[in-house]
Amino acid sequence: MEKVVIIGSGCAGLTSAIYTARANLEPLVLTGAMPGGLLTTTSIVENFPGFSKGIDGTEVRVEMQQQAERFGAKIQFGSTVESIDFSDQPLKISVDGNAVEAQTVIIASGAGHRHLGLPSEAKLERKGVTYCATCDGALPAFRDQPLVVVGGGDSACEEATYLTRFASKVYLVHRRDQLRASKIMAERTLSHEKIEPVWDSEVIDVMDIEQDKVTGVKIRNNKTNKETTIDCAGLFIAIGHVPNTQLFKGIVDMDDEGYILPKKGQETNVSGVYVAGDCSDRVYRQAITAAGQGCAAAIDAERYLASIAQ
Ligand code: NAP
Repeated sequence: MEKVVIIGSGCAGLTSAIYTARANLEPLVLTGAMPGGLLTTTSIVENFPGFSKGIDGTEVRVEMQQQAERFGAKIQFGSTVESIDFSDQPLKISVDGNAVEAQTVIIASGAGHRHLGLPSEAKLERKGVTYCATCDGALPAFRDQPLVVVGGGDSACEEATYLTRFASKVYLVHRRDQLRASKIMAERTLSHEKIEPVWDSEVIDVMDIEQDKVTGVKIRNNKTNKETTIDCAGLFIAIGHVPNTQLFKGIVDMDDEGYILPKKGQETNVSGVYVAGDCSDRVYRQAITAAGQGCAAAIDAERYLASIAQ
């Protein structure tokens, strides 16, 4: 039986792994399909303390993983949890068809990209509709073409700025007339010569005049109701995230939107189960706060194990 199983391998999960590994608890990390989580889809992380010149998101993940492994963490790559049974001890997790038993579980399952919910968006995903500029921006189909980014937060600004490397022009479509992004990101974005903001507007359809290839987006100005079309080769959607917590619904306490609600510290309502990072944080959602919560969850789990060993 495992002493600690960590579900997720973003900043929160890997920090929990470093701390519990250093406590000689040999944690098992189930990475999920996307090792490193959303951090690896970001370009340069400029606000993680200790890296004055910024650091690549994937590099942070690799460094954290190696740091955890150095102290005895076991990393199970690509492992996707299928079901859980937290009704009593030991806690049971079914992963890739195998049963794993654990005394404690740290849920650090992160968040996924929010979708607009348009049928044409789903139809054209990976055919010009994407949720990650750093993953897809350099694809030949997007080079020297006009592109559209939708959203008004830091992610949308980051995506739009990143895409200026490849695109002939980037339209930033936002549903209000003011960006939600931090001042520095907003200023950098709006002052870029290749970026044109399209205010008070919502994407209502993605067009593929050439079959199975994005050729434009239809937008509606929500003040005038006027509909227009922007010709583009790609739609990059950056409108926030939804927590990856479906698996724990009805078992671990969560709010209406699925963010896990800790009872005290990082402890959940289920004995021996802790939570950290974006799956429980709707307020801060930073790499550094996820790491901090991962550390706290690890210390909580360690103290729990010490208390039941007495
Ligand atoms: P966010 O801050 O929640 O912003 C989401 C944006 O999408 C908002 O502008 C929102 O509009 C818009 N939106 C939401 N639902 C929409 C819909 N259905 N249709 C159209 N627009 C919609 O999300 P985020 O930008 O992904 O950032 C998440 C967190 O990560 C934040 O705390 C951010 O600071 C952080 N982050 C930091 C960095 C960095 O520092 N380098 C980079 C990326 C993200 P409204 O404004 O009208 O609500």
